[in-house]
Amino acid sequence: MKYSIATMLAQAARGHARWPRLWRAAELRDAYDVIVIGGGGHGLATAYYLAKNHGVRRVAVLEKRWIGGGNSGRNTAIVRSNYLFPASIAFYERSLSLYEGLTDALGFNVMLSQRGVLNLAYSRADLNRMRRRVAVLRALGVDAELLGVDDVAARVPELRLETPTRSVFGGFLQPRGGIARHDAVVWGYARAADALGVDVVQNAEVGAIDVHDGVVRGVAMRDGRRIEAARVVVAAASGTAALIEPLGLRLPVVHMTLQAMVSEPVARFLDVVLDGAVYASQSDRGELVVGGGSDVFASFAQRGAPATAPRNFAALLDLVPRLSGLRWLRQWSGTVDYPKDHSPIIGTTPIEGLFLSTAWGSYGFKAIPAGGECLAQTVVDGRAHRLIAPFDLERFRTGRLVREAESSGMDLEGVLV
Ligand SMILES: Cc1cc2nc3c(=O)[nH]c(=O)nc-3n(C[C@H](O)[C@H](O)[C@H](O)COP(=O)(O)OP(=O)(O)OC[C@H]3O[C@@H](n4cnc5c(N)ncnc54)[C@H](O)[C@@H]3O)c2cc1C
Repeated sequence: MKYSIATMLAQAARGHARWPRLWRAAELRDAYDVIVIGGGGHGLATAYYLAKNHGVRRVAVLEKRWIGGGNSGRNTAIVRSNYLFPASIAFYERSLSLYEGLTDALGFNVMLSQRGVLNLAYSRADLNRMRRRVAVLRALGVDAELLGVDDVAARVPELRLETPTRSVFGGFLQPRGGIARHDAVVWGYARAADALGVDVVQNAEVGAIDVHDGVVRGVAMRDGRRIEAARVVVAAASGTAALIEPLGLRLPVVHMTLQAMVSEPVARFLDVVLDGAVYASQSDRGELVVGGGSDVFASFAQRGAPATAPRNFAALLDLVPRLSGLRWLRQWSGTVDYPKDHSPIIGTTPIEGLFLSTAWGSYGFKAIPAGGECLAQTVVDGRAHRLIAPFDLERFRTGRLVREAESSGMDLEGVLV
């Protein structure tokens, strides 16, 4: 179905009782050309671009729970390309440009709102680091502006620039950054992939990957079924290590629980995504969506932790004291997987036919379109697409790391601020 005002009116006239399912409840077949493990944004986007760009349609996306039940449906939905290193900038900029056309490409409104992402500088050193990022971004043709204190005040008049604990020295804006609706992104990719013939299968947990003599043969499902495929993509986020470590591949990541929360609606005052000590955006309904801070221990828990909330509230109230009576509706979390350099692990592996899209940490939502597009090309060619070549697993052996901790929202020691 193509969504339009006409279909909306027609469905309304029928009491909204006949909207078709977004994707089929597909039955698992015995064999596919490509199996994708994980029905998050990266798995679904890879399957979509395999079918759309390369005509590879005998593809299954196997999801152990429900589509978007992992981090792709739990994030704070920020999209931007304002990284530091040229390799990252080229990759995330491709993703942002795909986001700009995604609603039309998928025929599904992903509610992209390019309201700008504003990072705050709390010291001259912060500002100098931002100056460097702006210089690199502009040299590569990406939008970025260094802001003085007055510019920051003009963008967010309610912001307190001198607080008891810190002073704002200026900031750094990416005007084309913003937010997109996370559920819509996964549903849109699932629907479009399904329409091209991809089987999207929920409640389908993969227990192991079949490899013989260094070559992929398929997967073994948790319920005992075996499915053949010459190519397998593992896009299982925190479930990846359990699948590839039995094959002798070590994944150099730590798993942390990243928290987010949402407030009751308040009168609109924030028309950018604010990033500094805490990050926040205001939804169309007026709720504040706030993130920042993972639990201080490694964990696979996906629940809200009371300890993180006061830190986020304190940082927010410091900046906007008027919010002191704010009530919070909900807090949740996801398990994020961080490698040492805070860049993803995506591409080929030493095992023929096995591909990875993982270690997306707290930065993978913005990367879904380009991650899917580049990995699909890589699966078809058998060698890494140039935009993801710097982010392969091999870099942890050679030491060719892409150290993006600070651009990923970490402090210089790699701790989430
Ligand atoms: C609180 C929070 C805030 C965030 N904010 C942002 C943000 O603002 N911007 C941004 O860019 N990123 C953000 N992120 C990070 C982003 O959400 C993730 O990097 C991204 O969603 C990863 O997508 P994915 O498809 O790799 O993983 P997921 O969406 O987690 O999908 C992986 C799927 O694999 C499935 N799976 C696992 N094991 C198996 C198995 N054995 N068999 C079958 N299926 C399996 C899981 O059930 C899961 O659905 C945030 C994350 C969190 C938790």
